[in-house]
Amino acid sequence: MTSPLRIAIVGGGITGLAAAHRLLELQPASPSIVSLFEAGPRVGGVVGTQQMGGYTLELGPDSFITNKPWAVGLCRRLGIEDRLIPTDTRYRRSLVLRRGRPVEVPEGFQLMTPARVWPILISPIFSWWGKFRMGCEYFLPAKRDVTDESLARFVRRRFGQEVLDRLVQPLVGGIYTSDPEKLSLRATLPRFLEMEREHGSLIRASRSAAKTAAANEHASGARYGLFATLAGGTQELIQALAERVSPAIQINVNSPVTALVPLESGGYLLTARDQPPQVFDRVILTVPTYRVADLVQPFAVEWSQALREIEYASTTIVVSGHRLADVRHPLDAFGLVIPATEHRRILAVSFTSRKFPNRAPEGCVQLRTFVGGAMQPEYFGISDEETKQLVREELRELLGVTGTPDFEVVARYPRSMPQYHVGHLARVGLIRELAGRFPGLHLAGSSYDGVGLPDSIHSGEDAAEQAVRGY
Ligand SMILES: Cc1cc2nc3c(=O)[nH]c(=O)nc-3n(C[C@H](O)[C@H](O)[C@H](O)COP(=O)(O)OP(=O)(O)OC[C@H]3O[C@@H](n4cnc5c(N)ncnc54)[C@H](O)[C@@H]3O)c2cc1C
Repeated sequence: MTSPLRIAIVGGGITGLAAAHRLLELQPASPSIVSLFEAGPRVGGVVGTQQMGGYTLELGPDSFITNKPWAVGLCRRLGIEDRLIPTDTRYRRSLVLRRGRPVEVPEGFQLMTPARVWPILISPIFSWWGKFRMGCEYFLPAKRDVTDESLARFVRRRFGQEVLDRLVQPLVGGIYTSDPEKLSLRATLPRFLEMEREHGSLIRASRSAAKTAAANEHASGARYGLFATLAGGTQELIQALAERVSPAIQINVNSPVTALVPLESGGYLLTARDQPPQVFDRVILTVPTYRVADLVQPFAVEWSQALREIEYASTTIVVSGHRLADVRHPLDAFGLVIPATEHRRILAVSFTSRKFPNRAPEGCVQLRTFVGGAMQPEYFGISDEETKQLVREELRELLGVTGTPDFEVVARYPRSMPQYHVGHLARVGLIRELAGRFPGLHLAGSSYDGVGLPDSIHSGEDAAEQAVRGY
């Protein structure tokens, strides 16, 4: 008889929990001995839903994309698929600020590609020159060399500076809270590169793909739309995971892992705060790369240096509740994104209760205002009171929000958004190569292959499979 594998999971966010759950799925009869270590007082990491005075507040992520199957798939396996809800079709549009006024993003505009001509022609976002330059994309030859390039360079090359400044920067920046001049297109939105390579032009590609996309939407996405969440908020997924794994897995909260030592006999000696050191055969590290770097520095200097090459941005979200009567703007969209060229002090406002039902009481609205990120790091450093004040002023000027809010909650996410800068794929390749020198150590989380919840779940599940199968 072989003794069961001892597996440690470092980090109790969605990635760590998904890894724990996958370990149980893989070994229902003879489970490994699994311990999860979480530095904070609760599991869930950046995912956090709160109930307050009839509002359901999302302090971190508020939804996930459904065309990546791992979040929906996990909900299905956990038996909570019936709790998934789609976005509200009545408000499925976005606004972008142009000269201080919210303007509708042209219909059919997908992150950087105009799929339809007429909405672009009538849009007040672009000048006639900008529209003409965008149209030239149809005739521009595809780039031949395959070196990584920034999102900004790609958009400038294909569509011109105006499209980058007025629409793509705030739309894509909103997802990655990143500087498009540094963001790697290959690591974040490779499908646009494929469109260019296969069709010569993104406009041509999106027009020919329109029919297929519609069919796909019906096949999978239509059930939930492109984005979905759980009726009670994203925390429901954390709760379901924690309930499923906790009978079989030891979950240690308030237990930051402070040291990791490879043993000559194989395995690792792991020390968590206030606990005696323990030996594990496998360790799944789901914490940010700078934390992994701290842990491996004493025995893997080169690896820790490579891990530190990945940068992180910090962001603040101010979640606030308002009476609709106190808001001049009809808020007839999912949210407003703000180009850097508008020189405002906020990045975006999500109209949370327009996206999903039951997020605010009747006659009220929940807003989530994003501050800081890679584009405005100076605003992350200000106090909570100053942040609230700044947000109040911006909401008043941009959306006509007046009166006293029902509540304002400031949620801070220091060094929480990994930045997939140009060269990210090569950087991750090197990190993985160096990790190969330490069998039994597995990396997972949003720092490597995708930043959203579905990717994090996938990476946790993948790491669990590798840990059990020993590769
Ligand atoms: C503000 C914000 C909004 C987002 N919105 C969306 C969205 O709407 N949709 C979407 O799909 N994605 C969104 N994302 C991305 C998504 O939330 C993350 O990719 C995902 O939650 C990452 O999960 P994780 O478990 O890898 O990391 P985390 O949630 O960061 O968890 C890591 C955990 O490790 C713990 N830890 C750190 N150091 C140690 C240590 N030494 N020992 C033990 N534990 C340690 C931390 O306390 C933390 O709990 C958002 C992210 C942020 C920050």
